[in-house]
Amino acid sequence: MDVSRDFRLGAGILAAELALSGAYFLVSSTNAQDAIYELFGGGCVLAVAWSIRHVGPRSRLPWIVFGIGNVLFVAGDIAFDISPNATPPATADYLYLIAYPLFAALPVMLVVSSGSHRRIGALTDAAIVTLAFAVFEWIFVIEPALHQHWPLGERVVLGALYPAMDIVLLGAFAGFFVSPAWRCPSFGFLVAGAASQLVGDIANTIDGSAYSGASWINWPWMASYIFWTAAVLHPSMRRLAGPAREPDTPIGRWRLAALFGALLTVPVARLVADADHRMIGVWVVGTLQAAIAVLVVARMGMILRSVDRIRGRLAEQNEELVQADRLKDEFIALVSHDLRTPLTSIIGYVELALDEDGSEPLDAERRRYIEVVARSSDRLLRLVDDLLLAARLQSGRFVLNVDETDLESIAADALDEMHARAQRKGVSLFLACDGPVRVEADRRRILQLLDNLVGNAVKFTPEGGRIELRVERTLAGAAIEVCDTGIGLTEGDEERIFDRFYRSPSAVAEHVPGTGLGLFIARAIAEHHGGSLSARGREEGGSIFRLELPTAAPHTADDPETELVA
Ligand code: ADP
Repeated sequence: MDVSRDFRLGAGILAAELALSGAYFLVSSTNAQDAIYELFGGGCVLAVAWSIRHVGPRSRLPWIVFGIGNVLFVAGDIAFDISPNATPPATADYLYLIAYPLFAALPVMLVVSSGSHRRIGALTDAAIVTLAFAVFEWIFVIEPALHQHWPLGERVVLGALYPAMDIVLLGAFAGFFVSPAWRCPSFGFLVAGAASQLVGDIANTIDGSAYSGASWINWPWMASYIFWTAAVLHPSMRRLAGPAREPDTPIGRWRLAALFGALLTVPVARLVADADHRMIGVWVVGTLQAAIAVLVVARMGMILRSVDRIRGRLAEQNEELVQADRLKDEFIALVSHDLRTPLTSIIGYVELALDEDGSEPLDAERRRYIEVVARSSDRLLRLVDDLLLAARLQSGRFVLNVDETDLESIAADALDEMHARAQRKGVSLFLACDGPVRVEADRRRILQLLDNLVGNAVKFTPEGGRIELRVERTLAGAAIEVCDTGIGLTEGDEERIFDRFYRSPSAVAEHVPGTGLGLFIARAIAEHHGGSLSARGREEGGSIFRLELPTAAPHTADDPETELVA
């Protein structure tokens, strides 16, 4: 286990005390047992004093009060050791009973100084848990004690005052527990100490004879001193009074479990009491149960309200995101459109500069420069067109000019267009088709789609590779497959490559130029035709992209703006 540096000494003390608490049961002398017991209590008091001075909690008062509670408890232990058989109420009982509210004051004061007492939901949860505990105490501790034939004083102390103090302690710590602000070790140790105390008290009241000698019931009581010592020695005790953050979710897992347990306590306790043929005070249990039911309904109302609030916030955020996305698309469309105008003029003038008809011939070096400008401008124009088209697709403003067209001739054009690039790369291109395949489609867009597929195939196929375009008729219309012997697709990429801006890690790592928009646009074009575009890897290496088109694409009206810019 990783122990923080500041807690090394505390962790050592914790481990030594836990070991010594085991030794308590091995020694047979009562004096030795009492000495060990008092060592834990005295150690806890010293640890509180040391922490207040050296660890420096934000607010000292709660810890001073807690320290006084421990002093009273130790005094009670000593008083009990002096006269173990005194009939309650004895000096030890008075000292113990005064100490409980002081212990309970610690969490209450910390909750208040952190501002968590304003969290009504958390306090309602604490009340539900406390009431459930009260039902348990009533059925198993208070009622049986009240029916004992003990002297009145003993009955009041054991049957009413101790259980009442336990309820106070649990109520105070439940308030602490349900606030999510303190997820720190010190908090965990404090809760463990309080829980041990309660276990010891309940066990003792149920089995009164046990509080003597080396009974196991002494262990939880000793453990509460030990855990509280660890709590005050842990540096995180400084944070316990810190301002509470609002939780992200209305109710956490642990709190839900505590509430679930609280709700089960009443029926389970009643069943157990019934099985035990035990009389239970119906009025008391009924009233407590009704109070729990009211609190649960109130709590449900609060949770529903906070879920509604969260839902409302999410809807607002969603709307803002959609708006931001729309603005971004509009911005891209606007910028691309404005870039396109000067670009087309650059391309026009570059073409004129390269045209030697009727003008002075360019020297070789200048011609090379201008050719570079021409190539770069072409690339830039394609990129701008892609961005513009992607933005239009996103905003749903994309239309096709559908006409009867032959897919074989489009495939041939696409191969022609790529011929020079393929040759430079040493990749061979093939077309497989049994004659014209007529469908209704937007010729320009299908050519753009095939340009992209064949361009990618050339990009991702190494020298000596082969690219084949197969055009065929299908039952629904026609299909074109672009098969290459290139790098192929990695698992999971078959769908992802159609996402906007997605580029496979290998394409990025090997600096293959591209934007990740080509296939997004290609698929959109296919789908606007009522068809589909899919990809798969080939077993022998490389990939196959398959375009399916229906015989007739849905007709869409011309959009003059699209014609203007795309
Ligand atoms: P770009 O080619 O500009 O990166 P695309 O949208 O056209 O964008 O392609 C997206 C990704 O799909 C590419 O980066 C590449 O990783 C993968 N890809 C596309 N075509 C092929 C192919 N023929 N072989 C292997 N991978 C491909």
